[in-house]
Amino acid sequence: MDRTADVVVIGAGIAGTAAAYYLAKGGAKVVVCEKGEIAGEQSSRNWGFVRQQGRDPAEIPLMMEANKIWRGLERELNADLEWLAAGNLVTFATEEERAGWENWQKTAAQYGLSSRILGRTELEAMVPGNAFDCLGGIFTESDGQAEPAKVTAALARAAEGRGAEFFSQCAVYEVETTGGAVSGVITERGAIRAPVVVCAAGAWSSRMLRTLGLRLPQMWVKGSVARTTPGPIISHTATWTGVAFRQRRDGTFNIATRSADHDLTIDSLLNMPAFLGSFARNKRAIKLHLNRLSLELIAGSFSTAALGRELTSHRILDPAPNHRVLRRTLAELHRLLPATAAVEIDRSWAGYIDMTPDMLPAIDAVSQPSGLIMATGFSGHGFGMGPIVGRLVAELIQRGKPSLDLGAFRFGRFHDGTKLKPHSVV
Ligand SMILES: Cc1cc2nc3c(=O)[nH]c(=O)nc-3n(C[C@H](O)[C@H](O)[C@H](O)COP(=O)(O)OP(=O)(O)OC[C@H]3O[C@@H](n4cnc5c(N)ncnc54)[C@H](O)[C@@H]3O)c2cc1C
Repeated sequence: MDRTADVVVIGAGIAGTAAAYYLAKGGAKVVVCEKGEIAGEQSSRNWGFVRQQGRDPAEIPLMMEANKIWRGLERELNADLEWLAAGNLVTFATEEERAGWENWQKTAAQYGLSSRILGRTELEAMVPGNAFDCLGGIFTESDGQAEPAKVTAALARAAEGRGAEFFSQCAVYEVETTGGAVSGVITERGAIRAPVVVCAAGAWSSRMLRTLGLRLPQMWVKGSVARTTPGPIISHTATWTGVAFRQRRDGTFNIATRSADHDLTIDSLLNMPAFLGSFARNKRAIKLHLNRLSLELIAGSFSTAALGRELTSHRILDPAPNHRVLRRTLAELHRLLPATAAVEIDRSWAGYIDMTPDMLPAIDAVSQPSGLIMATGFSGHGFGMGPIVGRLVAELIQRGKPSLDLGAFRFGRFHDGTKLKPHSVV
């Protein structure tokens, strides 16, 4: 392969694929290089919550715009995405939590986003027969859910329909620069010349960017998810009440909890200083492990050639789910929703989430090298944001100016002394 493009996108998760869709729609010649398969990693493994609720205030305008796109996305892509606009519900168990949510509700209202605080009676109407341990909840009616595996696949088909090219099994080893500007990429199948490269490499972005001398503090956290057998339809509202669940149209549930695993790698050490505060706050929810991955991902941190070998020997990150946690999660679902007593785990999976210290992404056109666009670091909530991220990346490239303020997502914040602290409620 020796070719040219207007834009090369690294990674066919929802961020890279949506970017390719909007770029191709705007007339650009786009090539997407994916080391594994389209949406093989986080973008097909997430819960499928599409929520504005609980977001860091900086993300609320993006998610409100994303919400508008989601509402018309099935029509736009001519595909069934299992979109259900049944809202997002989070319960609270203490007065302190209630106060936190009331504050968030006021902030959201300043942006024009409407959410309601619900009492127990309203909760009963929304999720009939529930045994939630809570004082009440907060509900954002305009939120929804969709089926992750279907969404990125549909975006890719639509992008291809507009001329974008997708190469699977095609790892990018290196971004090439000439005189301080991006000039292309070296892939396992050869070189592609392009003046613009989008780094949408998900959990691999930090390792990829290091080859350019750029430091993106990023930590992998493994989340486990189970899908149950079908149960009676109770509610399609995506709900977080200790257990996170969403019931699909066919009656099956996706279930998970906040409990997460961190497999220690060399990156854990390199990035640790930026994450100490966040680790201290979440230490009960995160379990640390030393395992094969810890040994496998060492060499690539120090040489581009070794990184290339790691990218091709980890075509798709497919970690083992934490079965113990998922069995407990199912038992909790049975307790919280007694009508689900007969549902069982049908299948389970896990995915590595790419966390940043403030749990905000980097969506930015960096100055050094020029021509490099970042769309990464979605910190466990980038599925809902995917479509708007794609549109904003296309605007950055094709208009030179995005339609929404991306100041909070600038890459420079990791290095200019900005205090990096999460402000999201969930
Ligand atoms: C368990 C779990 C639950 C989640 N729940 C939700 C939720 O309910 N709602 C929500 O909004 N978000 C959720 N998320 C987060 C969401 O899935 C991610 O934020 C989003 O999918 C990130 O998309 P991405 O395109 O940035 O990354 P990815 O989907 O990870 O895609 C990156 C792609 O880049 C490829 N790649 C990497 N390096 C290279 C290279 N050098 N060359 C070529 N290809 C490369 C990878 O193979 C990968 O396919 C969840 C995530 C997990 C794991």
